[in-house]
Amino acid sequence: MALTLFSRRPAPVEPLAPERWPDIGETWKPEGVTVVQRYYNQASAVVLVYTADDGKAGIYYAVACLGCHFASAQDGRRTYNTRYSLADAAKVANEHATTCRALPRDLPARPDDDTAREQLHTWVCGARRRKEDVQLWLSDLDLIRLTLQRTNDWIVGVLQQLAVDQPEVLRIERDQYSDYVSYYARRLPED
Ligand SMILES: [Zn+2]
Repeated sequence: MALTLFSRRPAPVEPLAPERWPDIGETWKPEGVTVVQRYYNQASAVVLVYTADDGKAGIYYAVACLGCHFASAQDGRRTYNTRYSLADAAKVANEHATTCRALPRDLPARPDDDTAREQLHTWVCGARRRKEDVQLWLSDLDLIRLTLQRTNDWIVGVLQQLAVDQPEVLRIERDQYSDYVSYYARRLPED
C-alpha cells in the first residue's frame, strides 16, 4: 500500500495570481538622465543615483527615493563644491535606503511637451529677481529631472525659443571664443 502512496503524482499547483505591486523602478530609464546606481530601501522601494550632466562641465550626481519624496543634489553643509561626486551620492543614497520604510509608489508619468515646456517657463519666471539678472544653470533642474523627463538638447531648445519669444524674461549670452552659452532670467521691472 505504501508503494501507491509514493508513486502518487503531486497535484499540479495553480499559479497564484500576481498581486498588483507598483513597478519599483528597477529597470526605469527616464529620458534625460543616466541612472548609475540603485539601492533598495527597507520596503523594497528603489533609491536612484543619477546624473543629467553631459560631462562638459564635469559630471555630478543626484539622489531620489522612489518610495518617499526624498531628493538631494547637493551638500548644503559645504561651502565649495556642493554638488555630489558619485561617491557622495552613493553615500547619501545608501544612508537613505537603510532608514526609509516608504512603500514603492508609481513612477512619475512622462509629461507631454506642453506640460514640460510650461514647467520650464515657470522655473525661469520663478528665478527672476528685482535687483539683477540671474544666471540659470541646467544643473538647477537636477531635482526635477525625474518628472521633467527630457533631454538636455530639448531643454536648451525650449530656453532658446523662450529667449526669442519673450526677450524680457530670458536672455542668452554666447561666449565669443567657445560654444559656451549662458542663460539669464531678466530682472523684474521696477513695478
Ligand atoms: Zn525614501
